[in-house]
Amino acid sequence: MLDELESTFEQYRNDPDFLKELNFYLHDYSGRETPLYYAESLTKHLGGAKIYLKREDLNHLDSHKLNNVLGQILLAKRMGKTRVIAETGAGQHGVATAAAAAKFGMECDVYMGAEDVKRQHLNVFRMEMMGARVHSVTEGTATLKEAVDAAFAAWMSDLDAFYVLGSAVGPHPYPTIVHEFQKIISVESRRQILKKEGLLPDTVIACVGGGSNAIGAFSQYVNDKEVQLIGVEAAGHGINTNKHAATMTKGTVGIIDGMKTISLFEEDGSVSPVYSISAGLDYPGVGPEHAFLKDSGRVTYVAATDDEAVQALLLLSKKEGIIPAIESSHAIAQAIKQAPGMDKKQIIIINLSGRGDKDVATIADYLGEKITE
Ligand SMILES: *Cc1c(COP(=O)(O)O)cnc(C)c1O
Repeated sequence: MLDELESTFEQYRNDPDFLKELNFYLHDYSGRETPLYYAESLTKHLGGAKIYLKREDLNHLDSHKLNNVLGQILLAKRMGKTRVIAETGAGQHGVATAAAAAKFGMECDVYMGAEDVKRQHLNVFRMEMMGARVHSVTEGTATLKEAVDAAFAAWMSDLDAFYVLGSAVGPHPYPTIVHEFQKIISVESRRQILKKEGLLPDTVIACVGGGSNAIGAFSQYVNDKEVQLIGVEAAGHGINTNKHAATMTKGTVGIIDGMKTISLFEEDGSVSPVYSISAGLDYPGVGPEHAFLKDSGRVTYVAATDDEAVQALLLLSKKEGIIPAIESSHAIAQAIKQAPGMDKKQIIIINLSGRGDKDVATIADYLGEKITE
């Protein structure tokens, strides 16, 4: 079935009618193009490089996830599929898939770790409102890794269903497909920054869970060697504790979820349990293209802790009136470290992958405030 998916994708990826339909939904349904916003107050506060935010948080359903889901659901439609299966971490991919399935009249089953069901209950209810069935997965750490396993198993028992994969991970052709549908982020940002500044950015920063928003944010700059590309992973309680998801910093090469890539493994070869305050970043692997970009030295991968991410979230909220997703806040944390040491003429683009409404309860909890009974 991966062969069938690959041939369908190759048939349509440059097909004018397919692209016309995809662009219609990206534009009129999701609200693209998203702005490239000059964050002047944050820039002044940090006192260095000019900071621009690529506002993927303004997409329909609050994150970059719908870019990829629309592409995949239109492939499913071309293949005559009537049922879709998806995994979800923070619930953002599940919500985007549930919406697209509702829109195109397809049945939808979403697998989500029980821990994430608890952390992101609002998203569970949103999916159910749109007609999806949400399955809570209790194995292992009950987060994204286990949700992926359960969703793959569900697909194996119904190969007529279409598997809508949410990040730049898994077996070929998924990482290629997800890159293709997320590259719109940098297609737009490159055009936008050239128009606004007449220059390419010095640095592009994106958070990395499986790597879909980052690959989309980096894609069109990879050949511009002068543009520094930085991926930020979740350091959780710190990379020297056992509570983090810093795959690139601490991982080794191995096989996970149908791909050979860098991942976190235990001494006995089993996949390590991972942790982050953000449900979208606590995945022990990373997309294989990121492993390649790390090895080739083209992209630098760093990590930000829970605490750095929460402080970054609060700073952007206070300075710009924009509450970012806790995932995206890891990228902001890196800009906070880096911008003050840069020249005022230099430019940083932060990919703001999502909005933070879903995280408000988590943040309140982290700060020790009680906002619900
Ligand atoms: C899912 C998600 C991520 C992490 O996934 P990637 O595939 O690494 O992009 C990051 N930010 C937000 C807002 C998300 O919803």
